[in-house]
Amino acid sequence: MAEILNKTTHSAEETEKLASEFAKTLPRGALVLLIGDLGSGKTTFVKGLARGLEVPSAVNIHSPTFTLINEYPGKTPLFHVDLYRLDDSRQIDELALEDYLNRDGILAVEWADRDLHRWPKGAFIVRFEMGEKDRRSIAIEKR
Ligand code: ADP
Ligand code: MG
Repeated sequence: MAEILNKTTHSAEETEKLASEFAKTLPRGALVLLIGDLGSGKTTFVKGLARGLEVPSAVNIHSPTFTLINEYPGKTPLFHVDLYRLDDSRQIDELALEDYLNRDGILAVEWADRDLHRWPKGAFIVRFEMGEKDRRSIAIEKR
C-alpha cells in the first residue's frame, strides 16, 4: 500500500475541494473505495469527485439506495455505489461492478469495507475518521 495523502479537513466544503483536486489526478477506470462511519463524509467526497470531473452542477449527487448505482455525466463518467445495505457478498456480485470499471469511468464505492477483499490491486482506498465538530481526517492510499 502506498500512502497518497493524509489530511484533516474542517468543513464539508474543504472535503469537497480536496476530493475535487484528487479526482483530477485519477485515470479513467479508477476505483475509489470509501470507508468510514455514517456521517464521516463519504458522500460529500463523491460530490467533490463529481465537481472535479466536471459533472454539471445541476446533477444531484446522492447515495444510490433503490437504484443501487448512480451514473453522473462528466468529462469522465462517474459511477456511484453505496453498499450500506448489502452485506452479502453475493448481492455485491450481482451488481457486476467490473462492468462499470470497464466503461472507462471512475467508480466510487461507499462502504467498500462491506467486502474489502474483493477489490483489485490498484484501487484507491479513502478512509474517513470523524474528529471534533467538523473535523474529518482523510487518508488516501493505493492498494
Ligand atoms: P457519509 O456518506 O459518510 O455517511 P455524508 O457525506 O453524507 O457522510 O455526511 C457528512 C456530514 O458531515 C454532512 O452533513 C457534512 O455537511 C458534515 N460535515 C461536517 N464537516 C465535514 C467535513 N470536514 N467533511 C465532510 N463532511 C463534513
Ligand atoms: Mg453516504
